[in-house]
Amino acid sequence: METENVVARLKSSGLFRTKGLIGGKWIDAYDGKTIEVYNPANGEVIASVPFMGEKETKDAISSAYDAFRDWSKLTAFDRSSRLHKWYNLLIEHKEELAQLITLEQGKPLNEAIGEVVYGASFIEFYAEEAKRVNGDILPSPMPDRRLFVLKQPVGVVGAITPWNFPLAMITRKVGPALACGCTVVIKPSELTPFSALAAAELAIQSGIPPGVLNVVMGDAPKIGNSLLESRQVRKITFTGSTAVGKKLMAGAAETVKKVSLELGGNAPFIIFDDADLEVAVKASLASKFLYTGQACICTNRLLVQEGIYDKFMNAFSNAVKSLKVGDGFSEGVAQGPLINEAAIHKVESLVQDAISKGAKVVVGGKRHSLGLTFYEPTIISDVKNEMLIARQEIFGPVAPVIRFKTEEEAIQIANDTDAGLAAYLFTNNIQRSWRVSEALEYGIVGVNEGLHAYEVAPFGGFKQSGLGREGSKYGLDDFLEIKCICMGNMG
Ligand code: ADP
Repeated sequence: METENVVARLKSSGLFRTKGLIGGKWIDAYDGKTIEVYNPANGEVIASVPFMGEKETKDAISSAYDAFRDWSKLTAFDRSSRLHKWYNLLIEHKEELAQLITLEQGKPLNEAIGEVVYGASFIEFYAEEAKRVNGDILPSPMPDRRLFVLKQPVGVVGAITPWNFPLAMITRKVGPALACGCTVVIKPSELTPFSALAAAELAIQSGIPPGVLNVVMGDAPKIGNSLLESRQVRKITFTGSTAVGKKLMAGAAETVKKVSLELGGNAPFIIFDDADLEVAVKASLASKFLYTGQACICTNRLLVQEGIYDKFMNAFSNAVKSLKVGDGFSEGVAQGPLINEAAIHKVESLVQDAISKGAKVVVGGKRHSLGLTFYEPTIISDVKNEMLIARQEIFGPVAPVIRFKTEEEAIQIANDTDAGLAAYLFTNNIQRSWRVSEALEYGIVGVNEGLHAYEVAPFGGFKQSGLGREGSKYGLDDFLEIKCICMGNMG
């Protein structure tokens, strides 16, 4: 589908926004600079967005700070009802939002629709949770005193999001922030800003007041530094690479901000001899190749026990060969392009490194004949956990397979990484499923289940995969301060 046609349709729906949002106004960069955004499926320019920096970010922070006074004082019921309206609008515009996601990110349209539904679910969930930010009354050690615990919003939040889920990573952060009474300055990825801007447009339509939600984009380090340096910004919530997450954590120290980080993973997918082969193949296909492997919970290493190895490799290879690669708007496409040249270059170099150290290509192994950033769905065998491909996050459609003998060995290999986001295990032995689940140093574990992320479930990692949890009732904690009030002279 031509980029121009999709854009024309989106423009007519009023959701195709190409400016930043500060204090309820759509704004260009103050110096007029812009940056082009590309459709990764055909390399065409979709449109330009403002290339903003320090000044615009400072103004966005001021708007959010001013808006905080009134927004935080609304009743939870009032905030809840506006979030419900926002949710309804997101669902009403599901098709257009999904088209925007496919256009700028490249994922197949059905996956993009899934992202809109998933993303919107956080707004609905936190619209309800807004009414459950409960305090406590504590037993007082003194007869004439009373102790109360009050939960209050932290204040202005800086939310920095990546390109792989350009809508859902915004709603997963902004939903709980707004529910608690915080206001936000969002910096979406410059590679995929349109979904964020469309979501912001719908937030305005749902009655979320000017300044409560601001969007700036452009010079990422300058915007990031402005958020970090500001004493008015009380929290940074970030999803992205571990390298940038570490910088943000260090930068937040100066003003002692709260920090939530959702960073890279290195997910092991362990298949034991006693697994249901069909279940394991279906799940490994989804866990590795959905989103073209570009999700932080996607499988990064397949660990297969020796007794099931041959049967699994045979069935898995046949399944992978049947995956259709192409433009996300085309019928039946299971795998879109990678986001950009840097991403495909990383995949190529990891595969080359593994081959040079003894790994073998079973399926695929090179760029797809479609060109651009399309890469063949790939399986490589004889991988060792010391190889770069098993130590770094691939973020692409390559399944490295490691053969193992014992349960202890599998656990040791799985945990031998600095990451700790998602892990999966496949077994029909109930004792083993508990034993291994408990031994895995990961925040998210799937047992006979290959990918799971729900608004009701906590999402986040152990070790260098991050800090804090998003989604679920636990996802509110990071946006709240706890105040203890002692009332005297009560006897
Ligand atoms: P990825 O490799 O997935 O693109 P990044 O961590 O580079 O992950 O990007 C995630 C988000 O962080 C994007 O919005 C990006 O623009 C932003 N970002 C990149 N560098 C910085 C920085 N120095 N400060 C603040 N944000 C940054």
